[in-house]
Amino acid sequence: MQLVTEQMERYLSGGAWIRKIFEQGLELKKKYGEEAVCDFSLGNPDLPPPPVIGECLADLSCRMDKPFALGYMPNPGYPEVRAALAEHLRKEQDGAPITAGDVILTCGAAGGINVFFRTVLTPGDVVLCPSPYFVEYDFYAANHGATLTTVPTKPDTFELDIAAMEAAITPRTRVVMINSPNNPTGQIYSKETLIELSAMLTRQNAGRDRPIYLLADEPYRFLAYDGATVPSVLPLYPYSLVIGSFSKNLSLPGERVGFVVVSPDMPGREKLVAGMVFANRIMGFVNAPAVGQALLLRALGQEVDRTIYERRRKAMAGVLTRAGYSFFMPRGAFYFFPKSPIPDEVAFVERLAAERVLAVPGRGFGLPGHFRLAFCVDEAVINRSEAGFAKAMAG
Ligand code: PLP
Repeated sequence: MQLVTEQMERYLSGGAWIRKIFEQGLELKKKYGEEAVCDFSLGNPDLPPPPVIGECLADLSCRMDKPFALGYMPNPGYPEVRAALAEHLRKEQDGAPITAGDVILTCGAAGGINVFFRTVLTPGDVVLCPSPYFVEYDFYAANHGATLTTVPTKPDTFELDIAAMEAAITPRTRVVMINSPNNPTGQIYSKETLIELSAMLTRQNAGRDRPIYLLADEPYRFLAYDGATVPSVLPLYPYSLVIGSFSKNLSLPGERVGFVVVSPDMPGREKLVAGMVFANRIMGFVNAPAVGQALLLRALGQEVDRTIYERRRKAMAGVLTRAGYSFFMPRGAFYFFPKSPIPDEVAFVERLAAERVLAVPGRGFGLPGHFRLAFCVDEAVINRSEAGFAKAMAG
């Protein structure tokens, strides 16, 4: 009896690296105890949400006797949340004159990406994305009958290779998708790079009746180090959208609140927004969570204590440097993506696991020869991992 589709069979037996490492980690922790394992496999923010979240929840709990306290709402979200978010995004997105009608609330960035894809992709379309990349994009494109084509970034710096991206564009390319600050590399694309990318897309759009959209996936926007800034694509390219999330900056990943905002310069954007509102409904999300939106309204502009991530980044860089690894110093987000000292990074990740240090092989992000470390763990874990990194390096 075939209980699931062939595609799902393939997914279930495929190389889900993060899940494999996660399961291996559980085994190791059972055998040696939690303290003995340095687990850098998951990008699950460990910091508690800012105090305003608890206060808001307490206030909300006093309002539950009102009718519709947690009732259905318009599919794009509470109007006052859309308005407040639009005002917040005007500042955050380099002054783009965003209004409430340009924003919809979604079930996290993941929900937002799927809502957008549902609205613009037809089977056979292609989403183009630089690699390494967040592998869920593959599944999200496939959800809508499309495929993801990846183009390698430049070696070592993980900068966009815009000439290579242009060469990869075909008449079926419908979306170019970037993620900055990047998971897994920590790179942030400069304004000059984004201007160049926008000029390339404008050139490629000439004569098309379906524009190529530029989608910027920005769940790590708040986490830029050493004074780095994250430029906005919205004022640079009219067919651009930004997808954001409160999973990381407010440590709310389980509450599923994110948003999609379209460029105020996009001609006829009301149609695209209406499509995404409809998609939010028919994909079964209906609306982003009521509680999450109430939390967001209260906490907009606040964030977790990012100095903790800054200290961890320094500690991890110190550990890796002393142990002899070569790596790009992340400019944002909470990941390192060092080079594997041996070509087969899966074998190297196993060597690390034997030292009870858990990492994810680069091929899980479309770039073998590297491995990813998520530093959303206590600084003590980072410091404790040094001996394991050194031993694995020594072979
Ligand atoms: N995009 C990237 C690059 C991510 O790393 C993640 C989560 O780790 C997401 C999207 C999904 O975020 P959300 O929890 O907001 O759905």
